[in-house]
This record gives sequence, structure tokens and C-alpha cells, in this order.
Amino acid sequence: MWEKSSSAPLVNAPPSLQAALNLLNRNPNIQIWAGGTALPSKPADQILSLNLVDEIKKITPWERFVDWGAGLSLNQLVLQGKNLLPPLLLSALKTLGNYPLRNQGTLGGNLCSEPGGDLFPLLQALGAQAEFRSAKGFRWEASSQWPARGLKPLPGEILCRIRIPKETWNLTLFEKLGTHRSAGEEQVSYFVLARITRETISALRMGIYFPSAGLLRNRALEANLQGRKLPFTPQDKELIYKAWEEEFPFLTKPLAPFQSSRLTSITDWMIKQIREE
Ligand SMILES: Cc1cc2nc3c(=O)[nH]c(=O)nc-3n(C[C@H](O)[C@H](O)[C@H](O)COP(=O)(O)OP(=O)(O)OC[C@H]3O[C@@H](n4cnc5c(N)ncnc54)[C@H](O)[C@@H]3O)c2cc1C
Repeated sequence: MWEKSSSAPLVNAPPSLQAALNLLNRNPNIQIWAGGTALPSKPADQILSLNLVDEIKKITPWERFVDWGAGLSLNQLVLQGKNLLPPLLLSALKTLGNYPLRNQGTLGGNLCSEPGGDLFPLLQALGAQAEFRSAKGFRWEASSQWPARGLKPLPGEILCRIRIPKETWNLTLFEKLGTHRSAGEEQVSYFVLARITRETISALRMGIYFPSAGLLRNRALEANLQGRKLPFTPQDKELIYKAWEEEFPFLTKPLAPFQSSRLTSITDWMIKQIREE
């Protein structure tokens, strides 16, 4: 623990999860600090560092899923988990910041930052669940309940684990435009996960994430396209555009005109990658 000076915040670094939760229970407004690369700009009087909390830095494989500790650094995910990590996450992680940043930044910080980072929409697409703990107990939040722009722990909670189902996909795409330094509206990323057998879609997940406004993903569309014979027809294309429009009311703010035109070109590109006539 460091002493508070007139200019520096008081930093608490509890040595266990229980100690961290007890501290948070006494002071629910203390600023949680994982890697510290995406903290809110508002200065905090007191900081709770998760650096010594080893319980949230574990990778635990089960038969049908893998639990990833929220305190794992982005590089630990790649280096220690590369054989277990879904290829979609692996390709996204390699584009995230640079090597030193990935040593510092964590999985939990990426999901809980405002707005959620690159991994947020992908974990939603992969059907992940988030485990939050507080001094009073724990709760799981399924990805279908996640908010549009990043995870929101309740006061007194720490995000501890992310549970990702083990599934195989034979088409995996992830791309992003803009960097972390680009103006908020210029950032966009998009993904496709598909299982395609004999020119037929047996499962599909696709989405476009505008950190400034939220994730466009339409589960009804994904269900609708299941069983669809490829290539896509112009009618299928129309269906996809209509599905995005249905999601507009759930964005936290309307898309700017240039974001809407990007939406069109990105959708065309995604359709082309899956296959069109
Ligand atoms: C130069 C630069 C480039 C970057 N490039 C990218 C990029 O390409 N893609 C991208 O997605 N991000 C990028 N980032 C943002 C950031 O580095 C990552 O999102 C990183 O994963 C954040 O993790 P962290 O541990 O540093 O979060 P922190 O800064 O420690 O925390 C971020 C927020 O999450 C909360 N939090 C953290 N962990 C927990 C937890 N376990 N429980 C509850 N709350 C928690 C904190 O209280 C805080 O509000 C970049 C940042 C910089 C400075």
C-alpha cells in the first residue's frame, strides 16, 4: 500500500480476491485498476489495484468451455492460452494496441472500459458468460444480457471470469478500421463466425461494432439464415440490411452519415466473404 501524497491517489493493492472484495464493500466507489491503460479520465482519490489478485489470472479448461480470468493480461491470453483460444479472439488480440500495451492491458479491463474494447463484441458473438463477484456473493451474466457498449459491474463488484464455450467454426473473420487514437466515430470493427457444410449455412453469427454507438447484431437474422443454401441471393442481402435497421433503436446514439455508408460497404464485404451470387 502506498501513502497518499497531496497529488497522488492512495493505491491499495490487496493480496487476494477476498481482501479486494472486502475493501470494495467498504468503499464501493473506489477506482478499480487492472492494467490502467483505459482508466476514466476523472482523477480518483483512491485506487484498488488488482495486480496481486492471482485468483483472477487463471485459465481453467472444462469439457465444454474454458474459464479465462479477467485479470489475465492480453499477452498472457495469447501466450498461455493459444491452444485453447478461439481463432477469432486470437486474430483480434494480435491487432490490439502493441506488444507493451498487451503486457499491461487485461481481459477484464478491455470488457469493462467505456466503451468496451475490441474483445467485447467478439465475446458476445462467442456466447461467453461473465462472472461478477462481490462481498455478498456472485452472479453470472450471459452475453445475451450484456449491454450495448461494454460490461457494467455493479457497485462493489469485480469481474472475475469469462466463460467461453468450446465450439468450432469453419469461417472466422475479424477486421477493424481506425485505431484507439482515432476519433470515436471513426472506429468500427466487424466479425463473421460461420459453420458452412456443403454450401449450406448450419450456424452463423455476424456483427458490426461501432464503439461510439454499440453493437449491431441481429439474432433473429442469424436464426433465419441458418439452413440457407449459398451463395446469398439479392433477397438475402435485403434481409440483412433490414435486420441492421431493426437494431438501430438499440444503439446508444444514431449513426453519423459516414458511419451509415461504412455500414453498407462493410455489409457488402461480409456477404462477399461468406459468398454471394
Ligand atoms: C495506446 C493505446 C492503444 C490501445 N489500443 C487498443 C486497441 O487496439 N483495442 C482495444 O480494444 N483497446 C485498446 N486500448 C485500450 C486498452 O488498452 C485495452 O482496452 C485494455 O484491455 C484495457 O485493460 P486494462 O487492464 O488496462 O483496463 P484498466 O484501465 O485497468 O480498466 C479499464 C476499466 O475497467 C474497469 N475494470 C478493469 N478490470 C476490472 C475488473 N476485473 N472488474 C471490474 N472492473 C474492472 C476499471 O475500473 C476501468 O473502469 C488501447 C489503449 C492505449 C493507451
